Amino acid sequence: MIKAQIPDIKALLSTPKHIVIVPHRNPDGDAMGSTLGLYHYLKSYGHNAVVIAPNDYPDFLKWLPGDDTVLKFESQQDESKKLIDKADLIFTLDFNAFHRAGHNMAEVLETSNATKLMIDHHQQPDDYATYTYSDVSMSSTCEMVYNFIEMLGDTDKIDATIATCLYVGIMTDTGSFRFAATTSRTHQVIGSLIDKGADNSEIHNNIYDTNSYSRLQLLGRALQNLKVIPELRTAYITLSQAELDEFKFKKGDTEGFVNYALSLKGIIFAAIFIESKQDDIIKISLRSKGEFSVNEFSRAHFHGGGHTNAAGGRSETKMPSTIDKFISILPQYKQELSQALNGH
Ligand code: 5GP
Ligand code: MN
Repeated sequence: MIKAQIPDIKALLSTPKHIVIVPHRNPDGDAMGSTLGLYHYLKSYGHNAVVIAPNDYPDFLKWLPGDDTVLKFESQQDESKKLIDKADLIFTLDFNAFHRAGHNMAEVLETSNATKLMIDHHQQPDDYATYTYSDVSMSSTCEMVYNFIEMLGDTDKIDATIATCLYVGIMTDTGSFRFAATTSRTHQVIGSLIDKGADNSEIHNNIYDTNSYSRLQLLGRALQNLKVIPELRTAYITLSQAELDEFKFKKGDTEGFVNYALSLKGIIFAAIFIESKQDDIIKISLRSKGEFSVNEFSRAHFHGGGHTNAAGGRSETKMPSTIDKFISILPQYKQELSQALNGH
């Protein structure tokens, strides 16, 4: 559907515009890679572009080219609001509902008169954008930004800087090219990004090999807290605020922990529950293998959503009652959880 709109978008981008590019709140590698990749592309055309992230993100993303130009709405509200006010065009990347930008920023985005363009691969997109490029089969928003640039006939414009940003998001959203959404096309795009100058080994090193000693110890605690419910093919981890404090938790430190639960033989549904005293919630990450939809599970029970095999959510009660709720819901899914076994 976006293909038919490409001439309009080309016309729109044919003269310099004020453009704001927004990732979701608590941006991950795909959110920052896609927004910064698009930022460098638009800058190459002389647009007045800026990435405004709803809030801060982990240090392991702070080496990305252009990181120093990113505004954070939460701590730079006045400047951010002015830029959103002035914007002709707003790109929303790696999310598909304004509330995913966080309460305050959502309001500002909603009331803006700018033309909106969404590029996203999550389920059930809202209908706020003039141009919606939504495809839930895609590995990552970064792969979609590559496609977007290709549809505009501009793959020649992808230099090492853009390639590096897009490589990051494809790599992080696919668990380094192993999750089910990784296709031969994904690998072709990755091949092309390497040809254009993305240094795959260095990027991997920058993202994954920057552990602190305390993060590894926190991982040790998380693994000690791992619980398994074999008859429901489910495993889950808890981390309390006290445990996070004990191991000097920093944003991003728990990234990927839930995958250890999912790596257990026979397990197809994994969860991690992380207490946040500051927000007074339990932050939940859900992962699955095969047909079992954690997107549906999270929407139904934990105010969240995402993809079939990866979703987030939250609980507004304390840890023990959150876990009680989780365990009491599970038997409803007994059949699905055993059916999803096929091939896994
Ligand atoms: P994570 O568990 O890593 O925070 O999120 C997993 C996936 O679900 C990511 O693609 C993320 O963008 C999405 N996600 C996380 N939390 C939410 C939420 O509250 N609502 C929706 N719709 N998606 C979420
Ligand atoms: Mn993504």
